Amino acid sequence: MAENNFDLVILGSGSGGYAAALRGAQLGLSVALIERDKLGGTCLHRGCIPTKALLHSAEVADTTKESANYGVQATFQGIDMAQVNKYRDSIVEKLQGPDWPCVFKEHPLRPG
Ligand SMILES: Cc1cc2nc3c(=O)[nH]c(=O)nc-3n(C[C@H](O)[C@H](O)[C@H](O)COP(=O)(O)OP(=O)(O)OC[C@H]3O[C@@H](n4cnc5c(N)ncnc54)[C@H](O)[C@@H]3O)c2cc1C
Repeated sequence: MAENNFDLVILGSGSGGYAAALRGAQLGLSVALIERDKLGGTCLHRGCIPTKALLHSAEVADTTKESANYGVQATFQGIDMAQVNKYRDSIVEKLQGPDWPCVFKEHPLRPG
């Protein structure tokens, strides 16, 4: 098979693209996954993951405000937005590390 011939070519490495690529690889197909931006698409970079990290920070703030209800003495002093964004970015960064996405461990990606 010529180097640039594939059984399956997928445009976009978002949730839909990488799920299709993984399934294709599991079925024994040679798969090309083409991405024009960042691997992982909307969910990883702008959608599900960063928003859930922001929600987690909000939950921690809420819980701190209500800490007395849980028998914990804590004082809520405010939100450090720079640190909230740093936390969010660290989660995204962790998930887009060298093993991204972890579901590809058995079928590693080879940069083209
Ligand atoms: C704020 C927000 C929060 C969300 N939260 C959730 C959630 O909690 N749970 C949930 O299930 N869903 C959530 N979603 C929805 C989820 O992000 C999308 O359903 C999912 O990303 C769709 O995946 P996709 O592969 O269809 O598209 P995308 O993830 O958008 O991926 C498309 C990819 O294709 C690439 N691309 C486009 N055109 C080309 C081209 N011509 N050549 C090469 N590459 C190309 C793009 O760069 C992109 O990386 C959220 C979305 C947003 C915006």
